[in-house]
Amino acid sequence: MPEELRGTGVSPGAGAGPVRTIAGAVPEPEAGSRHAGDADAERATALGALAAVAADLEERGARSVTPDGRDVLNAQALMASDPGLADGVAAKIDEGLAAARAVFEAFGVYREMLAGAGEYLAARATDLDDVRDRAVARLLGLPMPGVPASDEPFVLVARDLAPADTAVLDPATVVAFVTEEGGPTSHTAILARTMGVPAVVALPGATDLADGTPVLVDGTAGTVVVNPSADQVKRARAADRARTAHVAETSGPGATKDGHAIPLLANIGGPGDLESALEHGAEGVGLYRTEFLFLDRATPPTDDEQERAYRTVLEAFPKGRVVVRVLDAGADKPLAFLPPPGDEPNPALGERGLRMLRRHPDVLAAQLRALTRAASGLTAELQVMAPMVTSAEEAADFAAICREAGIDRPGVMIEVPAAALRSRDLASEVAFFSLGTNDLTQYACAADRQIGSLASLQDPWQPAVLDLVASTTAAGIATGVCGEAAADPALACVLVGLGATSLSMSAPSLPHVRAALARHTLAECRQAAGAARAAATAAQARRAAEAHLNP
Ligand code: PEP
Ligand code: MG
Repeated sequence: MPEELRGTGVSPGAGAGPVRTIAGAVPEPEAGSRHAGDADAERATALGALAAVAADLEERGARSVTPDGRDVLNAQALMASDPGLADGVAAKIDEGLAAARAVFEAFGVYREMLAGAGEYLAARATDLDDVRDRAVARLLGLPMPGVPASDEPFVLVARDLAPADTAVLDPATVVAFVTEEGGPTSHTAILARTMGVPAVVALPGATDLADGTPVLVDGTAGTVVVNPSADQVKRARAADRARTAHVAETSGPGATKDGHAIPLLANIGGPGDLESALEHGAEGVGLYRTEFLFLDRATPPTDDEQERAYRTVLEAFPKGRVVVRVLDAGADKPLAFLPPPGDEPNPALGERGLRMLRRHPDVLAAQLRALTRAASGLTAELQVMAPMVTSAEEAADFAAICREAGIDRPGVMIEVPAAALRSRDLASEVAFFSLGTNDLTQYACAADRQIGSLASLQDPWQPAVLDLVASTTAAGIATGVCGEAAADPALACVLVGLGATSLSMSAPSLPHVRAALARHTLAECRQAAGAARAAATAAQARRAAEAHLNP
């Protein structure tokens, strides 16, 4: 009887394939570890490992799905075959060090040289560390770090996925995600929904599954079946087809059954997400997570680079709106060029979002400059908003900086309970709100969105979160929702019933939400919202709302 494991389903659908696990960090080889005395043999082993790493990176570069990915992999292959580095390794081995330690130390010298050599090379230091870890892993017989390379479709299993880990994922080969950590609003969940890949998070012991084990991931039910039968896989796929069958029936702009317009927008992390947004009928962009453009950067992006990335997105929606969020650095999305000032015991409660940008006004000014330049001459409506805003004073400050830069409709995200509770004060400073229900839930329930064991508290159906949404819309200004809550068809109806004026989500969820809205009148959405708010628990809130909605 196949074993069934249970976690939290965060991206619907069924995916089956063999497990491939992201290996943990490669440990530092023991300091002072020495070889047995045959320096020639040790040198041959070390240089052989470097050559194998270079060949592997080159081959992966040739198969890379994006030009950026190809460039990075090719540059890494060149690092691995650098003759200066090989000389450094050989010299360490001649001093008696074992191959793995010699490689580790020689890379250290090379790294410092690069880090001191100016902007461009400093930005490559992380790539160099990855090459070092690959060579050391090979020499110590450990699994390769990072996302595994595979020609065949597989289920990616990890303790957790950082945004930077996943930048190189090829949606054609990853059929599902399973992680031990992460809740429904973690970046693993967001990425999975963006890619339209089924995902289960908060599954304890997931990384104990041996590589190659066949599994069936049901992202709707939140289950992972180990060694599923062919029949189980067939039934899960059929159920998935049934789930998606009705969505094709609805198209066009988002609206309730009685014609109340609710623009349906896409959450994107860069121009690479545009194709999917357009394909799924997005009417514009409701959240452009600009920090995703720069996750692997050690230095701030140039004005031109930013302008290009923004312009491409604005050009894609000549008749729509594009809501750009200024850099939300810190906590779960650290940017190397905007580090927090010192150690933060609770990064989610520390300097992130607007707090960080107020410390670096030059970075904010450069981003706003690039945005206005990008929008000039285009017909798309550019809107700009700040993340992690707490008070009316912060909102007023941000609005003033935007207006000075020529952006006349600034907005703020409402993702801190204090801002939701005092929305009227903030509303007099800005033109619109965008509810970030992921962080709003994290802060309302005091439950870190990255910790899998707290997944049930990271649930936007929590009545306290619904109350905060209602408190926000009560201010009466345009209020979109761009947190993952908007991607849940039943919850989307409830949010509209609570007064949301637009909904933004990962593109593959758009057709499901469009179909759900089209089946309900605004009055029905309001009834469902009232019933949900009257419930005492998240599960009861969902059931109460669903009782007023057609599935
Ligand atoms: C949110 O917090 O709901 C949000 C949309 O922003 P992010 O997920 O990027 O923090
Ligand atoms: Mg947020």
